[in-house]
Amino acid sequence: MRISQFQKQFENQVPPAIAWKGDNVGLLIGRPAHQITNALVALDATKEIAVEAVRKKANLIITHHPLLFHPVKTLTPLSRVGELVLFLTEHKINLYAAHTNLDSVKWGVNFSLAKQLGLTDITILSPIKESLAKIVVFVPRDHSDVVAAAMHAAGAGTFSKYDTCSFRSEGTGTFRGMNDAQPYLGTVGETEKVQEDRLEMLVEQWKISGVLSAMLKAHPYEEVAYDLYPLLNKNTEYGLGAIGLLPKPLSQKSFLTMVKKKLGTDALRFSGNSSTVRRVAVCGGSGSDYIRDAIAQEADAMVTADMKYHTFQDYEEHILLVDAGHYETEIGVLKNLASAVSGIFSEQHHNGKVYITQNSTNPVHIF
Ligand SMILES: [Zn+2]
Repeated sequence: MRISQFQKQFENQVPPAIAWKGDNVGLLIGRPAHQITNALVALDATKEIAVEAVRKKANLIITHHPLLFHPVKTLTPLSRVGELVLFLTEHKINLYAAHTNLDSVKWGVNFSLAKQLGLTDITILSPIKESLAKIVVFVPRDHSDVVAAAMHAAGAGTFSKYDTCSFRSEGTGTFRGMNDAQPYLGTVGETEKVQEDRLEMLVEQWKISGVLSAMLKAHPYEEVAYDLYPLLNKNTEYGLGAIGLLPKPLSQKSFLTMVKKKLGTDALRFSGNSSTVRRVAVCGGSGSDYIRDAIAQEADAMVTADMKYHTFQDYEEHILLVDAGHYETEIGVLKNLASAVSGIFSEQHHNGKVYITQNSTNPVHIF
């Protein structure tokens, strides 16, 4: 399987369009035409990971954090990034990153963390906004099924656990072809009245161009009348953070002990005080932007990382805020990432292996 085929399949599940603006996701180093051998997944691209990939004959490394993020001015062994880029290209290793888009899918960083902590009834803490559109097209009735099927195949009308969702209402369309028009129905110069369906579907904005071209191809008219509306609805399928319930309420002490154990860490930093913890929000990695969402949704505690002194201070009256470490709150996603990649390999009849790194890339140590 080529890198480009993998990318297409993977991005159907983890769309780059849901990543934060300014993030750097996708194929960072490599040739789309390369045939994949094996793959290695890790949180970070480091020299140890690259050496491990060589050893495991994996010419595709998939990381969560993008190696190329800040502007790179030189590619020489003098910088960590330069040395690594040289090493990867010399060894013909392709590097792919899924960062905030991997945070935002339901099997990604945040849902993995929530499940690791044993939460149930998990939903997205902060659904992405303004990502949905409504497409409405007017179709002669005998073509409605064909046009709808083409639009569905391109991804329109798929939402949560449902697909082929649409609505049709009947009406009359009118038109008059002029001059060199070649109308599908009727005669040039005469106004026609046609029984049409108003066919409407929800579509995620990044699928619009594919849906439009499928719809135009299947539609019999020379000029197709259609409308596109941006929607203010929240997209509950994607977003940052997660929130759920512990199976039974825990005291603050038992909760903190459980978090340490489940995340395999010897130290937590926290502020606030909660006599009982039941409703828990999580955000793997730097989650300070979502504390307010957690409070608004009445979470007793939030498990995240990279908390600053003043952030701890600002919210101590409102929530038990736990900093469990950036690496510790994200590493759990690798299992799901590896199985998503394996799933694509087997669907595409590629018999390469998918390895989860055996190296810890955590730069932070606890003494
Ligand atoms: Zn991170």
